[in-house]
Amino acid sequence: MNPLESRLAYPFGETLPPPGRKFEIAPGIYWIRKPLPFALNHINLWLLRDHFEGRQGWTVVDCGIASDETRALWDEVIDHELERLPIVRVLCTHTHPDHLGNAAWLTERFGAPLWMTLGEYAMGRVLQSGLLGTDGPSTLEHFMAHGLVDAAHAETLKLRTSYFARLVPAMPLSFHRIAAGDAIPIGDETWQVIPGFGHSPEHAALFAPGVEILISGDMLLPRISTNISVHAMEPEANPVQQFLDSIDRFAALPAQTLVLPSHGRPFRNLHERIAQLHQHHEERLAEVLELCARPTSAADVVPVMFKRELDTHQLFFAFGEALAHLHALWFKGRVVRTRGADRVYRFQVAPPA
Ligand SMILES: [Zn+2]
Repeated sequence: MNPLESRLAYPFGETLPPPGRKFEIAPGIYWIRKPLPFALNHINLWLLRDHFEGRQGWTVVDCGIASDETRALWDEVIDHELERLPIVRVLCTHTHPDHLGNAAWLTERFGAPLWMTLGEYAMGRVLQSGLLGTDGPSTLEHFMAHGLVDAAHAETLKLRTSYFARLVPAMPLSFHRIAAGDAIPIGDETWQVIPGFGHSPEHAALFAPGVEILISGDMLLPRISTNISVHAMEPEANPVQQFLDSIDRFAALPAQTLVLPSHGRPFRNLHERIAQLHQHHEERLAEVLELCARPTSAADVVPVMFKRELDTHQLFFAFGEALAHLHALWFKGRVVRTRGADRVYRFQVAPPA
């Protein structure tokens, strides 16, 4: 949780949209919330009034996971909140299941296209098909190379197969590509695509200068820091640096910008939040660097960064995040990486040149 949350402003106070109902953020821009069966128990989705390809209707930004509960709430929204107009376009900020889960279900139902970046769409297709990726055995191997020895967690991780496909049972077979710098007319506003890296392959945030509103997706959240992980598919990634470089792009936006995040409540004071996130990761990097006075694996970092008991789902993210911070130091040349006779990677403060 963000200890400096009180420095942010929440213009709608504690108000949340009731289940299955929309809440007006600005004319033609609405907020809906869907439940998630995780510690992070909700996601925010956005409804934008649109006229697209000759049709009056709605562009939906993000979709919720493909659960019966989420779909029942979608039915409520469709029946009562869309002013009898269709969904004309589905836009997903990125490929994570809470954002993408119902994309095929919605696009098929309304004959609407999916708009997404190439990086997110392609990664979604790969994960959805189960060809590669985060499935059990490759994840287990990845974590073992970074010191995971706990047999119970190892067994659960190995069995963690089809995780993505369970939450995203289908994907649209074609998409419309959006990319950095695009200006997308939606209803009366034009939304600029701001790319983001480090959390997912090619995240798209959307900024409407006319109303000074940023749909930030998962790249700028008020209460929690965005998960930044090194995954099995790209084991030598440097996502912490990518993330920090990405949020700096939002620093160019006006100070009074209203941020619509995927988790938490709409907030103002984005420049403060950007500074807080830099500070947060700086502190974590300092903590990890201290551990690296002696040879340190990601498994050694996890209990220092995460001082509570973790279930396997949480361990998956904690491990990825611990390794991401080690990699940030490694890429900066602050630590060197070695692989011991036990085949485990360890990181240690670089000796003076
Ligand atoms: Zn995400």
